[in-house]
Amino acid sequence: MKIDILTLFPKMCEEVLNTSIIGRAREAGLVEISCHNIRDFTDNKHRQVDDAPYGGGTGMIIQAEPVYMSYMHLEGKPHLIYMTPQGKPLTQDKIKELSKIENIAILCGHYEGIDERVIEELEPEEISIGDYVLTGGELPALVLIDAICRMIPGVLRNEEAYQNESHYDGLLEYPQYTRPLEWHGRKVPEVLLSGHHENIAKWQKKEAIKRTKLKRPDLLKD
Ligand code: SAM
Repeated sequence: MKIDILTLFPKMCEEVLNTSIIGRAREAGLVEISCHNIRDFTDNKHRQVDDAPYGGGTGMIIQAEPVYMSYMHLEGKPHLIYMTPQGKPLTQDKIKELSKIENIAILCGHYEGIDERVIEELEPEEISIGDYVLTGGELPALVLIDAICRMIPGVLRNEEAYQNESHYDGLLEYPQYTRPLEWHGRKVPEVLLSGHHENIAKWQKKEAIKRTKLKRPDLLKD
């Protein structure tokens, strides 16, 4: 899979993407990620990409042309996603869908946002990571990339792991325990020590349903 990020802060993205599981996945060639600086696509000598909004108001707006050119220089016209608080809220089902696309590009806004005309021209898929506003699209893009990458075969050592995880099949994950056997007077549930795989699986499913009902009853509607 290939992911292109269009951003004003490529270093901020690189730092995170070179770390831990995603860093290893890149090194192993399981995913190719490139950060492109929108500023490289300006034609003024100060490399300015933003300007004041028409109609007044505080903050600056990223101009349409450098955004447009940064996307147009990509090979193969990848599926474009714009990270915006106005987009559809991100879900695990959307992540599953996106992880099957060969080449995506992610556009990160900053300041007060991006000139609307380039959004109309490129018609990106608009995705939000939640109903709150961040200073830029870089953190949302990194959230999206992290969630997509862990669905790519080979990225996680144990691929079955994510199939039990919260939201994968509409439930939250069952509780997990590790050594020691007893901590602050609290014991690990007996069934997990039994070695009986069928009983363990049944217990885990029951606990997953129980905690979904308790913490996120809205998920059980579906
Ligand atoms: N003025 C915009 C509005 O009210 O819709 C918000 C601009 S925000 C300060 C700057 C950039 O951060 C956005 O263009 C977007 O790329 C990113 N951003 C902020 N919050 C986000 C969220 N919840 N999900 C995805 N991207 C977000």
